[in-house]
Amino acid sequence: MQIQAAILNAPNGRFQIDTVELDPPAEGEVLVKLAASGVCRSDWRVAIGTAPKPMPMIAGHEGAGIVEAIGPGVAGLTPGDHVAFIWAPACGDCYYCNGGKPNLCATFTQLLATGLQADGKSRIRWRGEPVHILAGLGAFAEYAVVRAESCLPIRRDIPLELAAVTGCAVATGVGAAMNTAAVKPGASVAVFGVGGVGLNIIQGARLCGAHPIIAVDADEAKLTLAGEFGATHSLPSDGAAISRIQALSGGRGADYVFEAAGLPALQEVAFRALRPGGQLTLVGTAPDDSVTALPAAKITRSELCIRGSFYGSCHPRRDIPRLLNLYAAGKLKLRELITRTYRLEQINEAYADLVQGKLARGVIVF
Ligand SMILES: [Zn+2]
Ligand SMILES: [Zn+2]
Repeated sequence: MQIQAAILNAPNGRFQIDTVELDPPAEGEVLVKLAASGVCRSDWRVAIGTAPKPMPMIAGHEGAGIVEAIGPGVAGLTPGDHVAFIWAPACGDCYYCNGGKPNLCATFTQLLATGLQADGKSRIRWRGEPVHILAGLGAFAEYAVVRAESCLPIRRDIPLELAAVTGCAVATGVGAAMNTAAVKPGASVAVFGVGGVGLNIIQGARLCGAHPIIAVDADEAKLTLAGEFGATHSLPSDGAAISRIQALSGGRGADYVFEAAGLPALQEVAFRALRPGGQLTLVGTAPDDSVTALPAAKITRSELCIRGSFYGSCHPRRDIPRLLNLYAAGKLKLRELITRTYRLEQINEAYADLVQGKLARGVIVF
């Protein structure tokens, strides 16, 4: 079938909207009609080449939609099901899945890196050439053929644009607070960078019962939004931020510090906000070839813990339905995350807005 898609053909930050030819789903695959795709910075890193991927490529990994057709051998999904995409599919039976870490599942790592399907082929052609897909998905298109492991059936009363952002930004941010750091009630938390992921770290910390929850960002509008998501204090990211965090946390520094922007310079600043024995969680993904400089002697002497959080250390099939239930119960904010929606043809405008810091989350709606 012929569909419209946003194609990356070179790492120049430009998406090309064009018609591509999509094959039907093969063994173990599912055809999904996209309803919404989040405008996430991970796609932008591919678009500008700081996370190099094979091209031409269709990016987009924060998607939700409706199952249109299933290939042979697919169980547990039927046409008409509402699904959220999981961008780190899990096999359920590797070393990591058996160890309770499905977000690190090793089975599909190589396959996803190729941008192709299990048979080494693409289901998409553009100008006669095979097109790669990001994270086994390619959600910046009207339809996607994906592995069944990448599709999570969800309750039907959740608007699909909210399900889309829950599958990435919300699971990543809330999960970083709840799963990776496992923030304790009454603990002090500081979050550096309060875009789509940072706001969700804040609401995750709120759900964990943290206090104070301190948001740090250069953007005043984002700091205001952070207050709505549960930040008790908002600080501009200037030279005084560290001493103010210390003053708000008994003169010590925060128990838990999060960096959500993926900027080595900001990670180095965030490190200084820790109390002795505190934990810094790196949630934002830095450029592939970047290096963060941290003082090793202080890490040793102060017993500091520095850890990464990938996909919020979440079990997507357990946690995404839980998050949607929390939303339905009025305990989790999703609608307020979406600053603006765009049509697929406006994707370049959407990324310009993201880069200029205008968005908590933008969403492409189909
Ligand atoms: Zn994302
Ligand atoms: Zn696995």
